[in-house]
Amino acid sequence: MINEKRLLDTFLEYVQIDSETKNEKAMGEKLVADLKALGLEVQTDQAGANYGSNGCNVHAFIPGTIPGDPVIMCAHMDTVVPGNGIKPIIEEGVIRTDGSTVLAGDDKSGIAAIMEAARVIKEKNLPCRNTEILFTISEEGGMMGAKNMDYGMLKGKDAMVFDASGDVGKIITCGPGQIKIFATIIGRSSHAGLAPEDGISAIQVAAKGIAKMNLLRIDEETTCNIGTLKAEYATNIVPEKVELIAEVRSRNLDKLNAQAEHIRQCLQEACDEMGATLEYDPRTNYVSFNIENNDPLIVRTLESFERLGITPVIAKGGGGSDANVMALHGIKAVVLSTGMAKVHTTSETITIGNLNKCAELVLDLMTH
Ligand SMILES: [Zn+2]
Repeated sequence: MINEKRLLDTFLEYVQIDSETKNEKAMGEKLVADLKALGLEVQTDQAGANYGSNGCNVHAFIPGTIPGDPVIMCAHMDTVVPGNGIKPIIEEGVIRTDGSTVLAGDDKSGIAAIMEAARVIKEKNLPCRNTEILFTISEEGGMMGAKNMDYGMLKGKDAMVFDASGDVGKIITCGPGQIKIFATIIGRSSHAGLAPEDGISAIQVAAKGIAKMNLLRIDEETTCNIGTLKAEYATNIVPEKVELIAEVRSRNLDKLNAQAEHIRQCLQEACDEMGATLEYDPRTNYVSFNIENNDPLIVRTLESFERLGITPVIAKGGGGSDANVMALHGIKAVVLSTGMAKVHTTSETITIGNLNKCAELVLDLMTH
């Protein structure tokens, strides 16, 4: 039922609009114009101004004829670097680039699919659900658009985020939360040759603390890593200060918090033993989400897959996406694949077959 030619043209047009993270203005304006051309009520927010992007989140509402709460259909409009001057090439049903940029199928495949579904509904006057279209900015590198969004724009509590790689049919029902830990150990400076006993080596304290830590793979759903350990002093100075930055990820909120607390405890014990002071600042970057397989949102998605003859793959997410941030705001979101492949590389591709399937899926979800 979708118009494959129009979908492809839309996708190719969108990927050629530069929109690396924090430079989404032109893309946002284009989307606002395209949504308004469908006669939809369109809203934007001031999200970008909060962190130095020239873009804004774009929201549109399609009033439905099928009763029920609105469902948010979401995709992000920013791309990773190198994402400027994209020249898409089509070869044997596969869309790629000339190798100098990403393709931006992440996530303009999701955007094009949602736009095509909305166009078909409008054009054929199909019965549809109350649907909210949400195109976010700055998802890459920390979901800044979703974090700074005006949630007053949204009416619904269920969302489908079209932002996973892999053939259409993948449904990600859970994602990890992440805590970033910023810790500073403060010892005492002294001359290392003349009066070392007067000093407390922050490096030694850090080493003691880290040696006690459980790191890397903690369990099936939890990981932890120290990415930064910083101290640079002359060898004749007992080092006064060490900075440490670590992250914890877990799909289980209790385990997430427990592991962050474990890091704090190890450092605190080492500080206590050696008379140093710990400054500890854990920042919750996004929370985990976990949706049961019998949840109506999942059931509906699986029913759509079945109608379209798509083989479902229920998967666990390993990274953060807009879904994790929406979870912070009480919105239940699943993440669905669009067919994009090798994302975040200059070898990124998507097949026209997947592009079509994804649009059919969005259309089916909106009309059932
Ligand atoms: Zn993405």
